[in-house]
Amino acid sequence: MNRYKIFYLFFCLTLFSCTNDTDEPFTILTTTGMLGDAVKNIVKEDARVISLMGPGIDPHTYQTTQKDVQQLKHAHIVFYNGLDLEGKMINLLKGMAQQRQVYAVGEALNQTQLLYDGAIGVDPHIWFDVSIWKEVVRFISQKLQAARPESAAYYQDNTIAYLRTLEALHQSVTRQIQSIPKQQRVLITAHDAFGYFGKAYDIEVVGLQGISTASECGLKDIKRIVSLIIKRNIKAIFFETSVSDKSMRAVLEGCAHYGHKVAIGGYLYSDALGAPNTVEGSYCGMIRTNTITIVNALKKDII
Ligand SMILES: [Zn+2]
Repeated sequence: MNRYKIFYLFFCLTLFSCTNDTDEPFTILTTTGMLGDAVKNIVKEDARVISLMGPGIDPHTYQTTQKDVQQLKHAHIVFYNGLDLEGKMINLLKGMAQQRQVYAVGEALNQTQLLYDGAIGVDPHIWFDVSIWKEVVRFISQKLQAARPESAAYYQDNTIAYLRTLEALHQSVTRQIQSIPKQQRVLITAHDAFGYFGKAYDIEVVGLQGISTASECGLKDIKRIVSLIIKRNIKAIFFETSVSDKSMRAVLEGCAHYGHKVAIGGYLYSDALGAPNTVEGSYCGMIRTNTITIVNALKKDII
Protein backbone atom coordinates (compact mmCIF):
# COMPACT_ATOMS: atom_id res chain seq x y z
CA MET A 1 0.00 0.00 0.00
CA ASN A 2 2.79 2.36 0.95
CA ARG A 3 4.43 1.72 -2.43
CA TYR A 4 1.23 2.90 -4.19
CA LYS A 5 1.10 6.00 -2.03
CA ILE A 6 4.70 6.88 -2.94
CA PHE A 7 3.93 6.31 -6.64
CA TYR A 8 0.82 8.55 -6.39
CA LEU A 9 2.81 11.29 -4.66
CA PHE A 10 5.50 11.13 -7.36
CA PHE A 11 2.81 11.30 -10.09
CA CYS A 12 1.24 14.40 -8.48
CA LEU A 13 4.60 16.16 -8.14
CA THR A 14 5.41 15.50 -11.80
CA LEU A 15 2.01 16.81 -12.91
CA PHE A 16 2.40 19.92 -10.75
CA SER A 17 5.81 20.74 -12.19
CA CYS A 18 4.45 20.36 -15.76
CA THR A 19 1.51 22.69 -15.26
CA ASN A 20 3.59 25.23 -13.37
CA ASP A 21 5.42 26.24 -16.57
CA THR A 22 8.84 25.93 -14.97
CA ASP A 23 10.46 25.46 -18.39
CA GLU A 24 8.98 28.65 -19.81
CA PRO A 25 11.39 31.58 -20.14
CA PHE A 26 10.79 34.45 -17.74
CA THR A 27 8.17 36.52 -19.56
CA ILE A 28 7.53 40.21 -19.05
CA LEU A 29 4.43 41.71 -20.62
CA THR A 30 3.80 45.41 -21.23
CA THR A 31 0.85 47.20 -22.73
CA THR A 32 2.64 49.92 -24.74
CA GLY A 33 5.74 49.63 -26.88
CA MET A 34 7.39 52.44 -24.90
CA LEU A 35 7.24 50.31 -21.75
CA GLY A 36 8.41 47.24 -23.68
CA ASP A 37 11.44 49.16 -24.91
CA ALA A 38 12.29 50.28 -21.34
CA VAL A 39 12.11 46.64 -20.17
CA LYS A 40 14.28 45.42 -23.08
CA ASN A 41 16.96 47.95 -22.20
CA ILE A 42 17.04 46.55 -18.65
CA VAL A 43 16.86 42.79 -19.30
CA LYS A 44 18.44 42.63 -22.82
CA GLU A 45 18.33 38.91 -23.84
CA ASP A 46 17.74 37.61 -20.30
CA ALA A 47 13.93 37.41 -20.58
CA ARG A 48 11.13 37.35 -23.12
CA VAL A 49 9.38 40.71 -23.57
CA ILE A 50 5.90 41.01 -25.10
CA SER A 51 4.15 44.32 -25.81
CA LEU A 52 0.46 44.16 -26.65
CA MET A 53 0.16 47.48 -28.52
CA GLY A 54 2.19 47.67 -31.73
CA PRO A 55 2.88 50.57 -34.13
CA GLY A 56 -0.07 52.85 -34.88
CA ILE A 57 -2.20 51.41 -32.05
CA ASP A 58 -4.16 53.89 -29.94
CA PRO A 59 -4.02 52.80 -26.27
CA HIS A 60 -7.00 54.98 -25.24
CA THR A 61 -9.41 52.90 -27.31
CA TYR A 62 -7.55 49.56 -27.36
CA GLN A 63 -9.80 46.54 -26.77
CA THR A 64 -8.31 43.44 -25.14
CA THR A 65 -8.38 40.31 -27.31
CA GLN A 66 -8.66 36.69 -26.16
CA LYS A 67 -4.99 36.22 -27.12
CA ASP A 68 -4.04 39.18 -24.90
CA VAL A 69 -5.86 37.63 -21.94
CA GLN A 70 -3.93 34.37 -22.43
CA GLN A 71 -0.63 36.24 -22.70
CA LEU A 72 -1.45 38.28 -19.58
CA LYS A 73 -2.21 35.07 -17.67
CA HIS A 74 1.09 33.46 -18.68
CA ALA A 75 3.34 36.47 -18.06
CA HIS A 76 5.45 36.38 -14.90
CA ILE A 77 5.28 40.15 -14.45
CA VAL A 78 3.18 42.86 -16.17
CA PHE A 79 3.78 46.61 -16.54
CA TYR A 80 1.15 49.03 -17.79
CA ASN A 81 1.08 52.82 -18.00
CA GLY A 82 -1.98 53.42 -15.81
CA LEU A 83 -3.37 56.94 -15.19
CA ASP A 84 -6.26 55.71 -17.32
CA LEU A 85 -4.22 55.49 -20.55
CA GLU A 86 -5.40 51.93 -21.27
CA GLY A 87 -9.00 53.02 -20.65
CA LYS A 88 -10.69 49.81 -21.78
CA MET A 89 -8.20 47.45 -20.08
CA ILE A 90 -8.06 49.08 -16.67
CA ASN A 91 -10.59 46.84 -14.90
CA LEU A 92 -8.90 43.68 -16.14
CA LEU A 93 -5.43 44.93 -15.15
CA LYS A 94 -6.55 46.21 -11.75
CA GLY A 95 -8.28 42.90 -11.06
CA MET A 96 -5.12 40.96 -11.95
CA ALA A 97 -3.00 43.25 -9.76
CA GLN A 98 -4.83 41.91 -6.68
CA GLN A 99 -3.11 38.53 -7.05
CA ARG A 100 -0.23 38.92 -9.47
CA GLN A 101 2.81 41.09 -10.16
CA VAL A 102 0.98 43.70 -12.25
CA TYR A 103 2.22 47.29 -11.94
CA ALA A 104 0.90 50.65 -13.16
CA VAL A 105 4.12 52.64 -13.64
CA GLY A 106 2.38 56.04 -13.79
CA GLU A 107 0.84 55.50 -10.39
CA ALA A 108 4.33 55.07 -8.89
CA LEU A 109 5.27 58.65 -9.81
CA ASN A 110 5.32 61.55 -7.41
CA GLN A 111 2.06 63.57 -7.57
CA THR A 112 4.04 66.77 -8.28
CA GLN A 113 5.42 65.21 -11.48
CA LEU A 114 1.95 64.63 -12.93
CA LEU A 115 -0.08 67.05 -15.04
CA TYR A 116 -3.80 67.50 -14.53
CA ASP A 117 -6.33 68.71 -17.08
CA GLY A 118 -9.17 70.34 -15.16
CA ALA A 119 -12.26 68.17 -14.88
CA ILE A 120 -10.88 65.47 -17.19
CA GLY A 121 -8.22 64.29 -14.77
CA VAL A 122 -4.60 63.27 -14.91
CA ASP A 123 -2.65 63.36 -18.17
CA PRO A 124 -1.28 59.85 -18.86
CA HIS A 125 1.35 60.74 -21.54
CA ILE A 126 4.27 60.60 -19.09
CA TRP A 127 6.82 59.23 -21.62
CA PHE A 128 7.13 62.67 -23.26
CA ASP A 129 9.23 64.12 -20.45
CA VAL A 130 12.42 62.08 -20.63
CA SER A 131 13.39 63.07 -17.07
CA ILE A 132 10.07 61.61 -15.79
CA TRP A 133 10.57 58.52 -17.96
CA LYS A 134 13.88 57.95 -16.16
CA GLU A 135 11.85 57.53 -12.94
CA VAL A 136 9.67 54.98 -14.71
CA VAL A 137 12.78 53.06 -15.85
CA ARG A 138 14.10 53.07 -12.25
CA PHE A 139 10.75 51.76 -10.98
CA ILE A 140 10.60 48.96 -13.56
CA SER A 141 14.20 48.01 -12.84
CA GLN A 142 13.54 47.73 -9.08
CA LYS A 143 10.56 45.44 -9.67
CA LEU A 144 12.49 43.25 -12.12
CA GLN A 145 15.50 42.99 -9.82
CA ALA A 146 13.22 41.89 -6.97
CA ALA A 147 11.49 39.35 -9.24
CA ARG A 148 14.80 37.92 -10.57
CA PRO A 149 17.44 38.17 -7.82
CA GLU A 150 19.81 35.96 -9.84
CA SER A 151 19.89 38.64 -12.59
CA ALA A 152 19.67 41.72 -10.35
CA ALA A 153 23.30 42.85 -10.75
CA TYR A 154 23.07 42.51 -14.54
CA TYR A 155 19.80 44.47 -14.63
CA GLN A 156 21.29 47.16 -12.40
CA ASP A 157 24.32 47.64 -14.71
CA ASN A 158 22.06 47.84 -17.78
CA THR A 159 19.79 50.32 -16.00
CA ILE A 160 22.66 52.64 -15.07
CA ALA A 161 23.88 52.65 -18.70
CA TYR A 162 20.37 53.27 -20.06
CA LEU A 163 19.69 56.10 -17.61
CA ARG A 164 22.86 57.79 -18.87
CA THR A 165 21.55 57.51 -22.45
CA LEU A 166 18.21 58.97 -21.37
CA GLU A 167 19.88 61.89 -19.59
CA ALA A 168 21.87 62.70 -22.75
CA LEU A 169 18.62 62.50 -24.76
CA HIS A 170 16.87 64.86 -22.31
CA GLN A 171 19.68 67.43 -22.66
CA SER A 172 19.68 67.09 -26.45
CA VAL A 173 15.89 67.60 -26.78
CA THR A 174 16.11 70.65 -24.47
CA ARG A 175 18.82 72.25 -26.65
CA GLN A 176 17.02 71.50 -29.92
CA ILE A 177 13.61 72.85 -28.87
CA GLN A 178 15.27 75.97 -27.41
CA SER A 179 16.75 76.61 -30.87
CA ILE A 180 13.22 77.43 -32.18
CA PRO A 181 12.49 81.17 -31.71
CA LYS A 182 10.12 81.56 -28.74
CA GLN A 183 7.20 83.07 -30.73
CA GLN A 184 7.29 80.12 -33.18
CA ARG A 185 7.37 77.50 -30.41
CA VAL A 186 3.74 76.30 -30.69
CA LEU A 187 2.95 72.62 -31.24
CA ILE A 188 -0.53 71.93 -32.64
CA THR A 189 -1.46 68.23 -32.75
CA ALA A 190 -4.49 65.96 -33.12
CA HIS A 191 -4.87 65.25 -29.39
CA ASP A 192 -3.34 66.54 -26.17
CA ALA A 193 -0.50 64.01 -25.98
CA PHE A 194 2.34 66.51 -25.64
CA GLY A 195 1.59 68.27 -22.35
CA TYR A 196 4.62 66.75 -20.58
CA PHE A 197 6.79 67.48 -23.62
CA GLY A 198 5.63 71.11 -23.61
CA LYS A 199 6.30 71.59 -19.91
CA ALA A 200 9.70 69.89 -19.94
CA TYR A 201 11.06 71.55 -23.08
CA ASP A 202 9.28 74.91 -22.96
CA ILE A 203 7.05 74.70 -26.02
CA GLU A 204 3.37 75.68 -26.00
CA VAL A 205 1.14 72.73 -26.92
CA VAL A 206 -2.39 72.77 -28.28
CA GLY A 207 -4.40 69.63 -28.99
CA LEU A 208 -7.52 69.43 -31.14
CA GLN A 209 -8.92 66.65 -28.94
CA GLY A 210 -8.41 66.37 -25.19
CA ILE A 211 -5.97 64.07 -23.38
CA SER A 212 -7.92 61.03 -24.55
CA THR A 213 -8.97 60.15 -28.09
CA ALA A 214 -12.02 58.33 -26.70
CA SER A 215 -14.21 61.43 -27.15
CA GLU A 216 -14.69 62.92 -30.63
CA CYS A 217 -13.77 66.53 -31.36
CA GLY A 218 -16.48 68.82 -32.69
CA LEU A 219 -16.82 71.70 -35.11
CA LYS A 220 -16.28 74.09 -32.20
CA ASP A 221 -12.83 72.59 -31.52
CA ILE A 222 -11.87 72.87 -35.19
CA LYS A 223 -12.96 76.54 -35.31
CA ARG A 224 -10.99 77.24 -32.09
CA ILE A 225 -7.77 75.83 -33.60
CA VAL A 226 -8.28 77.57 -36.97
CA SER A 227 -8.72 80.97 -35.33
CA LEU A 228 -5.66 80.35 -33.10
CA ILE A 229 -3.50 79.45 -36.12
CA ILE A 230 -4.57 82.61 -37.99
CA LYS A 231 -4.27 84.91 -34.97
CA ARG A 232 -0.81 83.62 -34.01
CA ASN A 233 0.36 83.25 -37.65
CA ILE A 234 1.34 79.61 -37.04
CA LYS A 235 3.10 78.00 -39.99
CA ALA A 236 2.78 74.26 -39.31
CA ILE A 237 0.54 71.71 -37.61
CA PHE A 238 1.25 68.03 -36.94
CA PHE A 239 -0.48 64.71 -37.51
CA GLU A 240 -0.07 61.72 -35.20
CA THR A 241 0.71 58.16 -36.24
CA SER A 242 -1.80 56.57 -33.86
CA VAL A 243 -4.69 59.04 -34.40
CA SER A 244 -6.83 59.56 -37.54
CA ASP A 245 -5.81 62.72 -39.43
CA LYS A 246 -9.41 63.47 -40.51
CA SER A 247 -9.97 66.30 -37.99
CA MET A 248 -6.57 67.87 -38.62
CA ARG A 249 -7.35 67.91 -42.35
CA ALA A 250 -10.55 69.81 -41.48
CA VAL A 251 -8.32 72.37 -39.72
CA LEU A 252 -6.19 72.73 -42.87
CA GLU A 253 -9.35 73.30 -44.94
CA GLY A 254 -10.59 75.83 -42.39
CA CYS A 255 -7.31 77.79 -42.64
CA ALA A 256 -7.42 77.62 -46.46
CA HIS A 257 -10.97 79.00 -46.35
CA TYR A 258 -9.62 82.15 -44.66
CA GLY A 259 -6.63 82.31 -47.04
CA HIS A 260 -4.10 81.35 -44.35
CA LYS A 261 -1.38 78.96 -45.53
CA VAL A 262 -0.42 76.39 -42.93
CA ALA A 263 1.90 73.46 -43.64
CA ILE A 264 1.73 69.86 -42.46
CA GLY A 265 4.77 69.68 -40.19
CA GLY A 266 4.84 65.89 -40.42
CA TYR A 267 3.67 62.87 -38.45
CA LEU A 268 4.57 62.63 -34.77
CA TYR A 269 4.78 59.38 -32.83
CA SER A 270 2.47 60.15 -29.93
CA ASP A 271 0.99 57.08 -28.20
CA ALA A 272 2.82 54.27 -30.04
CA LEU A 273 6.35 53.53 -31.25
CA GLY A 274 7.20 53.16 -34.95
CA ALA A 275 7.75 49.81 -36.69
CA PRO A 276 10.26 47.36 -35.15
CA ASN A 277 13.85 47.63 -36.44
CA THR A 278 13.41 51.25 -37.49
CA VAL A 279 14.78 54.31 -35.66
CA GLU A 280 11.28 55.18 -34.43
CA GLY A 281 10.80 51.60 -33.21
CA SER A 282 12.70 52.47 -30.01
CA TYR A 283 11.76 54.98 -27.32
CA CYS A 284 14.90 57.11 -27.83
CA GLY A 285 14.41 56.99 -31.61
CA MET A 286 10.77 58.04 -31.24
CA ILE A 287 11.71 61.07 -29.13
CA ARG A 288 14.61 62.03 -31.43
CA THR A 289 12.49 61.68 -34.59
CA ASN A 290 9.65 63.76 -33.12
CA THR A 291 12.09 66.46 -32.03
CA ILE A 292 13.68 66.67 -35.49
CA THR A 293 10.22 66.83 -37.13
CA ILE A 294 9.11 69.63 -34.78
CA VAL A 295 12.32 71.66 -35.13
CA ASN A 296 12.40 71.33 -38.94
CA ALA A 297 8.79 72.50 -39.28
CA LEU A 298 8.74 75.31 -36.71
CA LYS A 299 12.23 76.75 -37.08
CA LYS A 300 11.60 77.85 -40.67
CA ASP A 301 11.75 81.60 -41.15
CA ILE A 302 8.42 83.36 -40.98
CA ILE A 303 7.71 84.76 -44.45
ZN1 LIG B 1 -2.97 59.90 -26.03
